[in-house]
Amino acid sequence: MGQILVVVDHADGAVKKPTTELLTIARRMGEPVAVFLGQGSANALDTLGRFGATTVFVVDAPELDSTLVAAKAEALAAVVAQVGPSAVLVTSSAEGKEIAARLAVKTGSGIITDAVDVAADGTATQSVFAGSWSVQAKVTTGTPIITVKPNAAAPEEAPATPAVENVAVTFSEVATSARITGVEPRAKSGRPELTEAAIVVSGGRGVGGPEGFATVEALADALGAAVGASRAATDAGWYPHAFQVGQTGKTVSPQLYIANGISGAIQHRAGMQTSKTIVAVNKDAEAPIFELADYGVVGDLFTVVPQLTDEVVKRK
Ligand code: FAD
Repeated sequence: MGQILVVVDHADGAVKKPTTELLTIARRMGEPVAVFLGQGSANALDTLGRFGATTVFVVDAPELDSTLVAAKAEALAAVVAQVGPSAVLVTSSAEGKEIAARLAVKTGSGIITDAVDVAADGTATQSVFAGSWSVQAKVTTGTPIITVKPNAAAPEEAPATPAVENVAVTFSEVATSARITGVEPRAKSGRPELTEAAIVVSGGRGVGGPEGFATVEALADALGAAVGASRAATDAGWYPHAFQVGQTGKTVSPQLYIANGISGAIQHRAGMQTSKTIVAVNKDAEAPIFELADYGVVGDLFTVVPQLTDEVVKRK
């Protein structure tokens, strides 16, 4: 394969970890090149080079930070037309998937979303029907566009000194007709973003109430993990909805998922089934979560989890 174009996911130039995973996957497939949309590319070059990007295409236009995703899709389409990559890799975030879908329409290309792995020949693996089937698929039309879930690959460094190419884009009126008038960041917890975290510690109805989440958070903080919750817990108002994992919540695919007091309903599994290692703590030995778990502890989470937290802290 030729050049594999990775769309950089960043916050003011700080490259997010899933992009380093995409660059690692891109290296399997061909020559990794990156496209940076928006301001702050100078801050990103070091990281992009460290993970092997040989060229970084930059579209730095005010429209990219002040409008919704349509402008980003137009900018990306312009870069794709100029570069003619063999494939485009995008992070499977809500924004990433919308940009990828718009790019597929603009370029008349096939698209695969939510891949959990991509092979050297571009064959993507998806986990479907709440994780009960694994599908291998390949795009056969146009430039393959693949959105890849965070944690699909362990980022590997392969230092390169990227060339920088600025690309000028003229935006259509329709792409810039809606403007962002204000952004209010959520209060920061200091924990990693749920969908990107390498470790997620979740709590369900078994935590018994909002105060029970302190036990879950203590383990998460000892491990440097994100906190998740089942819908039973979020619907009860014990934990914010933004942290719900599952079919109607976030999809996570961390290296390690620890489910505490969660029964393992199919709708919860849908959001965490592709986690690499699953640990469950539940006082009911018959709980369905144990069918899925790699390691299970049958016991009261308020006895088990603090011991686990102490042990993690001790070994730090
Ligand atoms: P429960 O099923 O009540 O399980 C609680 C578990 O905690 C039990 O297994 C119990 O043995 C254990 N337990 C209790 N006390 C302790 C203790 N002290 N120590 C250890 N273990 C203990 N659910 C989601 O999570 N995410 C979704 O996105 C989602 N979307 C849905 C969409 C639809 C359309 C529908 C119909 C449902 C959806 N649900 C979703 C709800 C789902 O069906 C379950 O009701 C929910 O996942 C149950 O949450 P839970 O496991 O926390 O609670």
